[in-house]
Amino acid sequence: MVLGPVLLGAFFVGLTMTTVDRNRAAERLGLAAATVRTSVDALCQQLRAAADAVALAPDAAGRAGTAGQVVGRGLAAAVLVTDVAGVPTYATPGAPAAPWRDCGAADPAAGPVAALAARVALRDRAGGDLGAVVTAQPVDPGLVARLAAVTGVAVTLLDGAPGSVGVAQTTEAPAVRDGVLAAARRAAGDQVTGTGDGRYVRRVLPAPGQPLPLVLSVPSEQPPDLYAALVGAVLLAGLLAVAAAWRLARVTTRPLVELAGAADRVAHGDLATRVPVRSRDELGRLAGAFNRMTRETGIYVQALTSSRDQLRGHLAVLGDTLASTHDLQRILRVILHSAIAATGARAGAVLLVDGGVLVGRCAEGLDGRWSPDAGVEAEAAGAAGLRVPVGAGIVGAVAATGQPRRGRADPVAEAAGEPRCETYVAVPFAAPGGPADPGIRSGVDPGTPGGPAAALGVLVLYDRLGGDEFDDADLETLRTFAGHAAVAVDNVRVHEEAQRLSLTDPLTGLWNYRYLRESIRREVERASRFGRMLSVLALDLDRFKEVNDTWGHAAGDAVLVEFARRVRGEIREVDLAFRQGGEEFVVLLPETDARGAAIVAERLGAATRDTPVPVDSGGGARIRVTVSVGIAVYPDHASTGEQVLDAADDALYAAKAAGRDTWRLAEARPWPPVEELAVPAGSVSPADGLPRAGGASSGPHPSQHGLGR
Ligand code: GH3
Ligand code: MG
Ligand code: MG
Repeated sequence: MVLGPVLLGAFFVGLTMTTVDRNRAAERLGLAAATVRTSVDALCQQLRAAADAVALAPDAAGRAGTAGQVVGRGLAAAVLVTDVAGVPTYATPGAPAAPWRDCGAADPAAGPVAALAARVALRDRAGGDLGAVVTAQPVDPGLVARLAAVTGVAVTLLDGAPGSVGVAQTTEAPAVRDGVLAAARRAAGDQVTGTGDGRYVRRVLPAPGQPLPLVLSVPSEQPPDLYAALVGAVLLAGLLAVAAAWRLARVTTRPLVELAGAADRVAHGDLATRVPVRSRDELGRLAGAFNRMTRETGIYVQALTSSRDQLRGHLAVLGDTLASTHDLQRILRVILHSAIAATGARAGAVLLVDGGVLVGRCAEGLDGRWSPDAGVEAEAAGAAGLRVPVGAGIVGAVAATGQPRRGRADPVAEAAGEPRCETYVAVPFAAPGGPADPGIRSGVDPGTPGGPAAALGVLVLYDRLGGDEFDDADLETLRTFAGHAAVAVDNVRVHEEAQRLSLTDPLTGLWNYRYLRESIRREVERASRFGRMLSVLALDLDRFKEVNDTWGHAAGDAVLVEFARRVRGEIREVDLAFRQGGEEFVVLLPETDARGAAIVAERLGAATRDTPVPVDSGGGARIRVTVSVGIAVYPDHASTGEQVLDAADDALYAAKAAGRDTWRLAEARPWPPVEELAVPAGSVSPADGLPRAGGASSGPHPSQHGLGR
């Protein structure tokens, strides 16, 4: 790019200088040629004038005298007088050697010239021809030197030989003589020709008045090493171009190459890569920005990695907890803690729906967040102090609609009893697959519009660190944790249900024999510890085999279910009813003595007896059933659970023996002697708030009563 213009410039400079030089040389040579002609012409005139002066003399003696004066004054080198025949009649001594060239001659190839001559005719008074007077001046080195001095150029006199050009006299330096001669040979007419060694040559051909064959030459004024200088300049420009390219590469290309390499390394994950910042220009700024970008990315990646590791740790704890325990409280605490750590919240809580109210089951960071209205009690109650009706405030609405919510603090929520906060995010959770299951983006349960949806509870977080609002990513994270909470709550419920099923009788829903053994032990111990009584009723349906035989086994089952329902209806909430097996049942009456137990036995007998059980497929038929009851009381009749059960069984046997559809009290133990109770069957219950269904208690059957035996 640089070399092209430089070469072109050098070419034009060279061409222009050569042309100018040639023109100047031609001008000088033209001027010199004119000067030469003038000088030679002047010499010829002088010779002619001298010849005229000699010819004017009247006689031969006068002519000799004048000739002597002419030569003496230097007007001519020699004077020659000839007669008509051309024979010399007089000649001054020291005449120049032949051949003489007449000033009027104009033949360029007339041969060598030794002297210039002027001829004037000699006549008598009458004008008769007497001969001629010739004056001559030698053409010697002196003349040539004078011409050179007058013109200021080098002058060469050619020998004038026809066909060839030879040198007769010259002022040229011997070194350039051959070159000048060669150029003179090439020259045609008045043309200027250059020699190979820096001179310009012009021939001056013989003409009338100037008969000498001359060559003029001048040295070129162009600096002799112009082309060397131009080549040098081009070379220098080339070198400069190379240097500039190298510098450019250093300044521009190298940083870009470094930057490209660094970007490549970063792309391969090496975030420690940095590039040197060498300048303050755009490239320097680019390098600085690249370094900053890489550093920021490194920090960001580090933060992400550590938060990922933290989350991994939390998830491991969560997984272990979920796998190792059914302790709902502990599981919810770990879930809440993990959710808080994963989203960077300051506080949070898990609330479970309990009878239309969301009750806090665990909380973190809620201290000092209760509104003054909630009062000190709520704060003291901790998580349980958080009670929000389903449908009210934020968490209530989330539970009601099954839709998660996030946003900024809401005075309405605070009024509803929720903690103070700047930002919040709340996600509902339901039994897996249920309508408010956060794993499924479904709306409100259509069956319960506005009412408590099937949400099990709500996971809520408050005040994201840094003050920003919780974003959609937080919401997604929270959905995951809410999913865990839902599974945990559901697992615990299933577990509890399984527990319950293992202790209940599937047909009647009463507690089973297994739970009876556990309960009797527990209740005896409690009664013993607090010095209370515990009554045990053993019940057996009378002649039940006949029921089965008459109505079928299914009808027998229906009778058992109905009997169980009536038993449940006749006892208090604290009392426990069991199906011991077949058509045998047991009822535990804590804190009840024999008198109270007798009342309950009476009532149960009546409830069974008075309303026959309708048969489904019996066309309005009803089954009459009765029950026999044996009563034993701790500590009156036995000192252990098993013994008291046995005692009740014995009493039952006595009731059967007494004709059925009646009750009997166990026999008193021989030790310690127990005072026989003289309570008539059907007497009022003691004032300890016994049976609710007192109105149902009718008097004892007239034919079946009696206490003890
Ligand atoms: P009693 O007790 O008055 O001496 O006469 P009973 O007919 O009730 O005598 P027993 O106790 O020997 O018979 C119990 C009958 O209860 C035997 C069986 O047919 C019936 N039974 C036991 N368990 C079930 C049950 O789960 N369903 C039905 N339908 N019948 C049962
Ligand atoms: Mg029976
Ligand atoms: Mg039986």
